[in-house]
Amino acid sequence: MPKSSHLASQGMSHQDVLARMREMRTDDARWQEGRTWSLVYNAGEELRRVAAEAYTEFMSENGLSPLAFPSLRRFEAEVLTIAAELFHGDTAAGTMTSGGTESILMAIKTARDFARAERGITEPEMVLPASVHPAFQKAAHYFGVKALNIPVGADLRADVDAMRAAIGPRTVLVVGSAPSYPHGVVDPISELAALAQERGVLLHVDACLGGFLLPFARRLGHAIPDFDFAVPGVTSISADLHKYGYAAKGASVVLYRTPELRRYQFFTFAGWSGGLYASPSMAGTRPGGAIAAAWAVLKYLGEEGYLRLSRQVLDTARALREGIAAVPGLKLLGEPSLSIFAFSSDTLDVYALGDAMEARGWKLDRQMSPPALHLMVTPAHAAVVQSFLADLRACAALLASGAPAPDGSAAMYGMLGSIPDRAQAEGFLLQFMDGLYSAE
Ligand SMILES: *Cc1c(COP(=O)(O)O)cnc(C)c1O
Repeated sequence: MPKSSHLASQGMSHQDVLARMREMRTDDARWQEGRTWSLVYNAGEELRRVAAEAYTEFMSENGLSPLAFPSLRRFEAEVLTIAAELFHGDTAAGTMTSGGTESILMAIKTARDFARAERGITEPEMVLPASVHPAFQKAAHYFGVKALNIPVGADLRADVDAMRAAIGPRTVLVVGSAPSYPHGVVDPISELAALAQERGVLLHVDACLGGFLLPFARRLGHAIPDFDFAVPGVTSISADLHKYGYAAKGASVVLYRTPELRRYQFFTFAGWSGGLYASPSMAGTRPGGAIAAAWAVLKYLGEEGYLRLSRQVLDTARALREGIAAVPGLKLLGEPSLSIFAFSSDTLDVYALGDAMEARGWKLDRQMSPPALHLMVTPAHAAVVQSFLADLRACAALLASGAPAPDGSAAMYGMLGSIPDRAQAEGFLLQFMDGLYSAE
């Protein structure tokens, strides 16, 4: 064996390993201070510790075998029961997955296999509002389901008439988001569901983002349209525990209206010398820690905890929306009423504004067509509303006065946005990833 220079011949001490890791994270996003507006759903240190302890307690256990670990089976069953209840799914059945993407992949594989078995469709298509998460394009790519991406309406919500026109004999699935990630608006689920029913196709609601927020927002008196199994025609729902469920990363649920539909998700193989094999989802080994932590957080928070956090998130988001809308030159996209939204400008270069904010320590996601900056509000942001808005007002005023923005990613986004050819932009991304994932 060649001598490896990266795997040291001697191990380091426990202390040294951890010290080295803490050193390596110094440039990481500072989500603890509420300065990051995506990726981390921070509901405070106390809750994080509950999840962390539950996670490490079960980190060696494997959810692939519910027979070996009845504890995990019970955690998962109870998590699913809670989710089904929240989504009015009296007959609903589902599984936990590693995240929103896996939940969506599974819902699409299920729809494809259901349509193949029940309707003889061999060249399946699905009709999507163009605002859906890229996980749907990924599923199309992985599972050979053609994605018809239908432009959204002027209000940035799914255009039901345009989607109706796109449904054909090969359509296996129609999709709506509750809400969509880019603009935080809820698609007209009732209308989409009626359409799906009328045309005899399945309807998936992507509530990855809103699943564990909308039910509580409604109980707090917010006007939340029906989005779940209470709507006839909704046949599956994805909802992420590791977003507004505040669970540890690696936890989501996918639910179907009936256990009969869920059967198309499962994979079984009885011809292996290793024994009978059955797996509910994409993953083989399923980390026990993620399942256990999700259960622990649901138990720890209870309805009261989710209501408290939801209120905090929604109040904070409203204050931010109002503050942003009042900054000269800035405008919100669509009419977001929840905790995720984007803002744009007709007069300022928002990418330059993003760089100016980044120079002050605020990490905002950049969006394209139209160029926009994106916020996903969590409980931790309650404490930074005023300082964020003050910096935003200052940065916008400086840009408006003609001051140059500090160097950042504006040039790259401007360039990417101006590439008319999507294949070319995707080629650029591939090259970028090659670089990102190459050895140090
Ligand atoms: C986050 C998200 C997903 C994908 O979830 P992951 O956990 O990142 O795989 C899908 N849909 C929406 C609306 C989301 O916000």
